[in-house]
Amino acid sequence: MSKLAQEIMDAAKSGTALRVLVVEDEPDIAALIAYQLTRDGFRVETTGNGAEAFDAVGRELPDLVVLDRMLPGLSGDEVLRRLKADPATSDIPVLVLTAKREQEDRIEGLELGADDYLAKPFSPRELVLRARAILRRVGETRTNGGGRILKAGPIRLDVDSHRASIGEDELSLTPTEFRLLQALMERHGRTQSRKQLLEKAWDVESGVSDRIQTRTVDMHVRRLRAKLGEVGEWIQTVRGFGYRLKVPEGSE
Ligand code: CA
Repeated sequence: MSKLAQEIMDAAKSGTALRVLVVEDEPDIAALIAYQLTRDGFRVETTGNGAEAFDAVGRELPDLVVLDRMLPGLSGDEVLRRLKADPATSDIPVLVLTAKREQEDRIEGLELGADDYLAKPFSPRELVLRARAILRRVGETRTNGGGRILKAGPIRLDVDSHRASIGEDELSLTPTEFRLLQALMERHGRTQSRKQLLEKAWDVESGVSDRIQTRTVDMHVRRLRAKLGEVGEWIQTVRGFGYRLKVPEGSE
C-alpha cells in the first residue's frame, strides 16, 4: 500500500478522513464512485444536482469535489465557475467528469479551474488514482527520515518532536498553538471552518456552542499570528467560514 493510501486509511480509522463530495445525477455512477472512494478510506457524500452541492459545501467544506459536467439544472461548468469564484471555496480541488472526449472540452474545463478531467466511461479504480494524485499535489505533507515533516513556504513543523521553525528561527508554541498550526498546514491553501479547526487542534467533538467555538479559535489564531511575526499574515480569515494558511507565491 502506498504511503498516501496508508495515511488515508489511518485517517479513516481516526475519524479525520478526507471528505469527497460527488456531484453526479446518474445514481448508478454516483453509487459506484462512492463505493470505491469509501473503500479507499474517504468520507463520501453524493448529491444529484448543483443546488444540493452548494448546500453540502456550506455544511462542511470538502477536500475534493468530483463533479459531473452534465447535470440537470445548474450545469457542471456553472457549479465549477461558482466554486472557483468564491474565495471560501476557490481552493477546493475539483475533478470533472465528462461524457465527451473532445479536446476543446478539456481545455475549456481546465480554464474554468478544474484540477483534472476524466472522460466517461472510466474505471472506478482510475478515478481513485486521479483523486489521490490531485490531493497529493495540493498537499504539503512530506515524510523525511521517519519523522513527519510539514512544510509551507519557510514554515516547518516536525510533528513527532513538536518543533516548529520559520527559516532558521525556532518558534516557541504552546501544544494547542502547535496543533492549530499543524491543522492549518495539513490543509495548506484550503479553508477550514472554526469547527474543523477546533476538532483537530483541541480534540473535542462538537457540542460546544458556536459562540465559544468562535471565541476560542479566534483567540488562539490571534496568538499564533503574533508568534509567527510577519508570516502571521498568511493565516487568512475567510469571512463567514473560518481560516486558511496561504503562502504567497515564491515564498520558499
Ligand atoms: Ca450526468
